Amino acid sequence: MDKYLKAIKQNICSICVDSSEKGRCTLNEKEACAVELFLPQIVNVIHNNENEELAKIYKTMKETVCRECLAQDNDGYCYLREDANCSLDRYFYLIVETIQKVDAGILT
Ligand code: SF4
Ligand code: SF4
Repeated sequence: MDKYLKAIKQNICSICVDSSEKGRCTLNEKEACAVELFLPQIVNVIHNNENEELAKIYKTMKETVCRECLAQDNDGYCYLREDANCSLDRYFYLIVETIQKVDAGILT
């Protein structure tokens, strides 16, 4: 999982609105980043849907990862997603691309 985390930090954290100019996460200890928190599950979803369209992978991510997340209610509503305040949702397509590039050996 380390190689994926490293690639996420380099490619997602570096452009994340919740990071400093140097790419350091600015969330405090009471806040959690769904990308870090659910990275194994995210990687699993991407691996299990290798040949699927991005829209399908996004839907599966919501049905699996978001279902585990405390921010989402029983009706599937997430106030963080609604406010564009979840980095997993905000950068989902870039996250998929990053994981796939690691798998392809393009990113190490
Ligand atoms: S919120 Fe998540 S994606 Fe954004 S900088 Fe922090 S750890 Fe990285
Ligand atoms: S979109 Fe909401 S429910 Fe899904 S991971 Fe992000 S915070 Fe959790």
